[in-house]
Amino acid sequence: MQVPVLSIIIPCYNEEEAIENTLKTLLDYLKELTDRNIVSEKSFLYLVDDGSSDKTYSILEKWHNENPDKIKVLKFSKNFGNQKAILAGLLEVRKYNPDCCVTIDADLQQDERTIEKFLEEFKKGNQIVCGIRNDRKTDSFSKKFTALAFYKFINLLGVDMEPNHSDFRLVSKEVLEVLSRYREVNLFLRGVFQEFGFKKQYVYFDVRPRLQGESKFNFFSLMTLALQGITSFSIVPLRFVSVTGFIMFFTSLLLAIHAVYEKVANQNTVSGWATIVMALAIIGGLQILCIGIIGEYLGQLFQEVKARPRYIVEKELE
Ligand code: UDP
Ligand code: MG
Repeated sequence: MQVPVLSIIIPCYNEEEAIENTLKTLLDYLKELTDRNIVSEKSFLYLVDDGSSDKTYSILEKWHNENPDKIKVLKFSKNFGNQKAILAGLLEVRKYNPDCCVTIDADLQQDERTIEKFLEEFKKGNQIVCGIRNDRKTDSFSKKFTALAFYKFINLLGVDMEPNHSDFRLVSKEVLEVLSRYREVNLFLRGVFQEFGFKKQYVYFDVRPRLQGESKFNFFSLMTLALQGITSFSIVPLRFVSVTGFIMFFTSLLLAIHAVYEKVANQNTVSGWATIVMALAIIGGLQILCIGIIGEYLGQLFQEVKARPRYIVEKELE
């Protein structure tokens, strides 16, 4: 096999403090990989500016003007979120025809030297190489706990997803073609690559603490991501609603027969008040819960049916 052309895709949102260091580190690393004949000299960085409101874009523009072959930039018209930025990078990079690409965060929390290991696996014929975090030492307790709960829950629902997955991964150009055929709006990348089949490999890497700037994710954006992951990959919660509804229906039927019997046979209608109140409360609660779950899916459907563009590109520096 010839040395592959590698594209490193980097989503950036308000990363003015971190980005120059990242660009420098990755350019040096690309040069080293080229010198060692691991990747082709046509390899490049592909940056997606996710509607930053700080100086990120002007920094990217400056670096692009100095080195247009190595640094390409895509600018969103506003902030669309990290998943859309990664997706746009993966889809739009196809026009440069790289043999494979790696997605990595702009804060370089993922050890970029793992890319060599990704490439080794790629050369062995793996089309998808996923980075798995060695541990979660750099995460706060609540983030660690919710992430773990998320992976346990989604596995329980029958979705095949390795815990401590990340969006740090290598995919081949064939995988990019398949990805372009997935037209859903809320594409949960970690799940969708699992579905493709293809030869796949996992590589473990260390996570570093964020050196510059701060995390762009808060509790709510992480929860949204988790909910999207669940509702776009599993209909088990919906089935849970139907099964529970079915059981509740039969139970209430039995209760009703019992009530009628009490009234007709024993003329005993005053007692049993507690049972009725409890049953009402439980059923009422369950109904709300079930409607909530249905609502989640309806919300997803609503967005899918509208089929709005997933992102809007304002400019591109080729
Ligand atoms: N990011 C993005 N759009 C957003 C939020 C984040 O493109 O709306 C990028 C961000 O610039 C970084 C990556 O996604 O390159 C991961 O974000 P961050 O490091 O803040 O997340 P954390 O590591 O804390 O999970
Ligand atoms: Mg980070």
